[in-house]
Amino acid sequence: MGASAQIGVTGLAVMGRNLARNFARNGYTVAVHNRTAARTRALVEEFGQEGDFVAAESAEDFVAALERPRRLVVMVKAGEPTDAVIEEFAPLLEPGDMIVDGGNAHFADTRRRERALRERGVHFVGAGVSGGEEGALNGPSIMPGGSQESYEALGPMLEKISAKAADGSPCTAHIGPDGAGHFVKMVHNGIEYADMQLIAEAYQLLREVAGHSPAEIADIFRTWNTGRLDSYLIEITAEVLAHVDSATGEPFVDVVRDQAEQKGTGRWTVQIALDLGVPVSGIAEAVFARSLSGHRELRDASRGLAGPTAEPLGKADAAAFADQVEQALYASKIVSYTQGFHQIAAGSEEYDWNIDLGAVASIWRGGCIIRAAFLDRIRAAYDARSDLPSLLADEGFAREIGEAQDDWRAVLVAATRQGEPAPGFAAALAYYDALRADRLPAALTQGQRDYFGAHTYRRADREGTFHTLWGGDR
Ligand code: NAP
Repeated sequence: MGASAQIGVTGLAVMGRNLARNFARNGYTVAVHNRTAARTRALVEEFGQEGDFVAAESAEDFVAALERPRRLVVMVKAGEPTDAVIEEFAPLLEPGDMIVDGGNAHFADTRRRERALRERGVHFVGAGVSGGEEGALNGPSIMPGGSQESYEALGPMLEKISAKAADGSPCTAHIGPDGAGHFVKMVHNGIEYADMQLIAEAYQLLREVAGHSPAEIADIFRTWNTGRLDSYLIEITAEVLAHVDSATGEPFVDVVRDQAEQKGTGRWTVQIALDLGVPVSGIAEAVFARSLSGHRELRDASRGLAGPTAEPLGKADAAAFADQVEQALYASKIVSYTQGFHQIAAGSEEYDWNIDLGAVASIWRGGCIIRAAFLDRIRAAYDARSDLPSLLADEGFAREIGEAQDDWRAVLVAATRQGEPAPGFAAALAYYDALRADRLPAALTQGQRDYFGAHTYRRADREGTFHTLWGGDR
């Protein structure tokens, strides 16, 4: 077999198969390989007419099918399988070749793998891919890390298969060295968790506080989707809420168990944020809300706890309340993205990645799960000022959140009065209020620390470190 393929994909489950088809549909000759060869044969049998595939059953045949420098995309289960595949292929590669890991790897693993392969002269590109099965086939958002040199060889192909934003620009760009791409993908998923939680809270309040039915809420979301909240997640939420279970005739949302699951990228985002000292309270609440929902036994044991006695709102109030919820959702969304972009900036600083935050917003405008009109605004904010310390420091966002804040507070008052949890909305508002506060009670915390542990404190009125000799016989 001669080397005729410009790119190879190994790991042909839903994501890998669709990515391979996407490359082929875009005119590339694609070598395909999977540990279980039946999947390779199935792909070529089902979709062989879509483009040029070279089916390889052995690792050696797969590598031999690739033109040099070889570009080999790995789309297998993240974790040990990725290491196993690298171990299998790396000895067959030559200096200058590239392994692209499109799985959801932890960025620390990507850094480790990149270092090890660099010693062998092989480029390792950790590339976050978002958009699910459909995106992989028709155009995902791709977040590649790795060396600049590898991007020069890969970039044009990735740009071709990626989603395109409304202005036609590709939803991929070189994020930065080693693990930068997977780091950004991780934060993307953290923001996705927060977006989903905020939308879920909006639904819950419209239903339980304002008394709307799922079908009515679907209509409210459809209206929101024509405005500043225009986004994939609002669009699909309306579809889910409008869906009726065929077995029972009940709203679909009422027949699903209310226990949310998670695969781990949201948790990673929060763990890393804790390490970096970045307050991503909105993302953290979203992760905790999923885990709380899963504690069935705790919830069962707490069923009898007292709640408030407030009456639901009347019909006239319900319409006004929906407008207020839209304001609360939008303001909380601004905060989630502020926190997520802060985390990317902090990661970039810590690992010396030099990530262009405006470019990140730009490549999330299409293809990925959090794609939204809103991302154009974020890109514009960083275009206007690349060293923007926080999205809240952008004049436009500051004005909008200022205009929304009265309604945002009113929604939280209503939620609290009626005993409906809205941890995402509340955490976002607390972040906003803490950032704008003149003084924080952190001063008292410092006093306490100095009292029991002689941890010292700094004074507002003079330089230096101080310790007070606290009274008593401690
Ligand atoms: P998956 O279920 O995560 O993985 C299945 C694939 O991994 C199969 O091709 C399987 O080969 C291969 N595999 C597992 N263990 C292996 C090993 N030890 N050696 C070699 N191959 C091994 O598939 P997926 O859902 O398509 O996802 C692929 C990657 O993309 C994952 O890292 C996932 O996190 C990421 N991702 C998924 C989505 C999504 O929406 N699904 C979105 C973005 C990113 P066999 O056929 O031989 O078992």
